[in-house]
Amino acid sequence: MGPDVAGVIVETVQGEGGVLPAPAGFLEGLRKLTEAQGALLMIDEIQTGVGRTGKFLGIHHSTVEPDALSMAKALAGGVPIGAMLCSEKLAQALPPGSHGSTFGGNPLASAVALAVLDEVEKRDLVGHSASVGAYLGERLERLMRYPAVSGARGQGLLRALELSEGVDARAVVADLREAGVLVTLAGQRALRFSPPLIITEEQVDEGVGVVEQVIGKLK
Ligand SMILES: *Cc1c(COP(=O)(O)O)cnc(C)c1O
Repeated sequence: MGPDVAGVIVETVQGEGGVLPAPAGFLEGLRKLTEAQGALLMIDEIQTGVGRTGKFLGIHHSTVEPDALSMAKALAGGVPIGAMLCSEKLAQALPPGSHGSTFGGNPLASAVALAVLDEVEKRDLVGHSASVGAYLGERLERLMRYPAVSGARGQGLLRALELSEGVDARAVVADLREAGVLVTLAGQRALRFSPPLIITEEQVDEGVGVVEQVIGKLK
């Protein structure tokens, strides 16, 4: 970090990197550093936003106010959309026409996003994500008694199970798919769980039960 750094972009929970939540104080430290250097702090909330981590935004687990943040994916419940939010001060740097995009601001995607946000609010899906997410976390932690599992971590409904060294993670993903559970690989050996925000505890039990069957068979 030095005066030549214009900005820092981070996720509050690294998604593809392995579902790695920022350690306590990390984002606050970044905010102090960027402020001291006159650099921007931008948060990528594309995976963590809209309740995924048990708060509306991942950054809400901290006291940090970023200069800008990005959202997409869940924002319109599957309809293609991307959004950038920024401070009033930064917005002045982007006058009309300077930040163009063919389909930017399109009314259909925007209407869908508003409908999604209404549903999220009406059904308290953020609170639901926090409570069912904690439940999923406990269920995944219990799988650490199997030798094939070396760790469990995450926030809300963004979770990972770290597989032990020597386990063929790709084969586990394929076996899980065969058995009806869709997970992706994140980082080197982490199975990423990112279920719909409407998932119930019963459905978590069913899914984790399948995971347990597949993982329990591994050496
Ligand atoms: C998917 C994703 C992106 C890319 O989003 P687009 O809307 O496809 O540009 C960026 N960051 C993270 C963390 C993502 O998961």
